[in-house]
This record gives sequence, structure tokens and C-alpha cells, in this order.
Amino acid sequence: MARGTGAVCKQCRREGAKLFLKGERCFSSKCSFDRRSFPPGQHGQNRRFKQSDYGVQLREKQKVRRSYGLLERQFRNTYEKASFERGVTGENLLVRLESRLDMVVFRLGLASSLRMARQFVNHGHFEVNRKKVNIPSYTVKSGDVVTVRPQSRKLEAIHEAMRHKRTEQMVSYLALDKAKMEGVFLSRPKREEIPVTGNEQLVVELYSR
Ligand code: SF4
Repeated sequence: MARGTGAVCKQCRREGAKLFLKGERCFSSKCSFDRRSFPPGQHGQNRRFKQSDYGVQLREKQKVRRSYGLLERQFRNTYEKASFERGVTGENLLVRLESRLDMVVFRLGLASSLRMARQFVNHGHFEVNRKKVNIPSYTVKSGDVVTVRPQSRKLEAIHEAMRHKRTEQMVSYLALDKAKMEGVFLSRPKREEIPVTGNEQLVVELYSR
């Protein structure tokens, strides 16, 4: 699967917001955005111009897309599926993104970053409802149980991620049983429960142009 390989912290600086893409580093004094909260590049500090409506929508879309570590095609496909569902398209989009297996693994704290969660899933370290799943985009549904596979339970990187998981990073629609290394997707998240700062309505406006 294609993946983004650019410098991760530059993405936060470009979007003018902390996207929390680097695990523990994001909460430390090493966070690039905390030290240099202006856009990257030679003229980053001097750029002063009024953005057009299109520019604002584009930046919000990029912010949401980058928060989930997706390439444009993957993100757009998710949007298309969300737009066919009942309800508010922007919220449906975020719920779909939050329901991806890699995101669930990350939110549960079984990986210290989304990139790591994606790699763990790709390497077959997880089961959904007792069946091995190695597809990061797999959609987890309400009531599904995500477990670290028995042969992967000694993986130090997973234990380290669990040790460093902060309570403020936990979300109400997931529950983790640390002893069993198992999480449950309790219910469809509401917009206010999803810890993503981007404005999904502007994403919808951009794609509806
Ligand atoms: Fe963004 Fe985390 Fe890098 Fe800070 S450390 S700039 S929050 S990815």
C-alpha cells in the first residue's frame, strides 16, 4: 500500500495545529510545533496573505486527512462512502475514519503512534472478534473486540505504548482491558467525542464544489 513518507512534524507546522502524529514526542519539549509554530520553508515566517475560501477549505481538508495519515485517494474514497450514508456527511466521514482498525489500535493505546499502529496491523499482530485481520482500513463496528494475537503479546513495543498511554488520550467510545490486551469498540462515536480539530464541514464543502 502506498504511504506518505514526508517529514511528519512539518505537516503540523503546515496546518498550524498539533496533529499528534509522533506519539510521546508530541507531549514533550521536543515537539517541533511548540518550538516553531510557523509554516515550514524559507519564507514560512514571512507569509502574510489572506486566504481565499478555497484555500481555507483546502487547508482544513489537509488537516483532517493528515490527522489520519491517509493519502488523497484513500481519503477521498472514504469521503465518497460517507456521502452515501444517511445523516451528516462530515460526521459520517469522521466516524468512518475513527472506525479504521489502525485508528482503533492507536486510540486504544496499543501503539504509540498511528504509523506504528498501521505497521502492527500490517504485520498481523491483531485479531478482530478472534480472527486475524491485517488490513489497516478494516472497519471496526460497535461491539467488535480487538485483541493482540497470543503470539504477539510479548512484543515490547506494544507494552511500551500501553505504559505511556495518557488518560487524556483515551476516548469514550473505546474500552481497554490492559490485562487481556483487548479493546472493545463500544458505540458509534459522536462528533464531540472525536478528538480531531479539523472542520469536517469545510471538507464537505471542498469536495462538493
Ligand atoms: Fe506534530 Fe507531534 Fe511533531 Fe509536535 S511532535 S510537530 S504534535 S507530530
